Amino acid sequence: KNQPIETDIVIVGAGPVGLFAVFEAGLLGLNCHLIDNLDKVGGQCAELYPEKPIYDIPALPYCTGQGLVDELMKQSDPFKPGFHLSQQADSLSKLEDGRWRLETSTGTVFHATVIVIAAGAGSFVPRRPPLENLEDYEGSSILYAVRRMEALRDKRIVIAGGGDSALDWTLNLHPLASQVTLIHRRDQFRAAPDSVEKMRQLVANDEVSLQIGQIKELKGQGGQLEAVQVKGSDGELYDVPCDVLLPFFGLKMELGPIAEWGLNLDRDLITVDTEKFETSVPGIFAIGDINYYPGKLKLILSGFHEAALMAQQAFRYCRPDEKLVFRYTTSSTDLQKKLGVI
Ligand code: FAD
Repeated sequence: KNQPIETDIVIVGAGPVGLFAVFEAGLLGLNCHLIDNLDKVGGQCAELYPEKPIYDIPALPYCTGQGLVDELMKQSDPFKPGFHLSQQADSLSKLEDGRWRLETSTGTVFHATVIVIAAGAGSFVPRRPPLENLEDYEGSSILYAVRRMEALRDKRIVIAGGGDSALDWTLNLHPLASQVTLIHRRDQFRAAPDSVEKMRQLVANDEVSLQIGQIKELKGQGGQLEAVQVKGSDGELYDVPCDVLLPFFGLKMELGPIAEWGLNLDRDLITVDTEKFETSVPGIFAIGDINYYPGKLKLILSGFHEAALMAQQAFRYCRPDEKLVFRYTTSSTDLQKKLGVI
């Protein structure tokens, strides 16, 4: 059984707001661990618009989505946050001593005084194909991410989709798999031209099979796929034998398990006060796009402000015997020591 990770704060979501919360908590001497479903930090900025410009971050007239995330990582670095990526914050319960026990989808367990939900529009989760009996195969024969390529050696793999993930995995897996079939509903791809070119070359050399059509049915038993039934562009149905199906139909956002945590919600947003950004449950805060209060603006700068105020109250929970002193980073040697600049 996994040893629990003891921490002041667990932050659910490593988007821009979660990252800045590490900084604000760090200034007050509180340590943080972050969880994100994605395999990288940065939330929407990194996943949806890494190269697009942002013009409304105070004192940064221009930066890109990824550029902002890189700077936030630098800013929080002195506080050595723990990152736990590619896992979803799953279940939350109260420990006897009043702290929280949070467990992720991969079994990481935290014991924390405070929970901060910085979950944006929810977890980025894969879009699932609308197929009957899908659940029977998910996790065994149907995978939405490749965690270990070696597990796919010598398998007959069907990859579905027409974007970068589908193309990248077609190129990466074909040397290792016994057979790779790429299935896409049309003969046009929304992926890097170079990857499309390479895939076409493999198809021309008979090293990869390309099928234009849609998967209609899963065939197999006991969680083990044997074939997928495809409807070709001419309407004809045929089977493609396979051991593993990798559907890459993009990501969507959903609130996920947080909806079960007993917090007051307003249309999938978590309602908070505007003094501490605390939810209806003491010790659980919600900051950034995930929260709602009258006047809320879904902007990164609002999330930064919310993180600063959240940290004040989090300090009171985590250090009940200590006095909270207001200090400027400009002039406080204590803060500058924490930041490692003196
Ligand atoms: P997010 O960035 O959404 O990050 C939340 C993270 O939490 C995600 O990575 C998600 O996977 C994770 N998560 C959620 N639930 C769980 C769970 N249960 N377990 C594990 N992880 C979980 N804002 C501006 O201020 N200026 C702009 O110019 C601007 N331009 C934008 C352009 C586009 C195209 C888009 C889509 C948005 C833009 N925004 C802009 C909005 C801005 O990106 C969001 O306000 C910001 O990303 C919110 O940050 P966040 O940290 O609250 O959430």
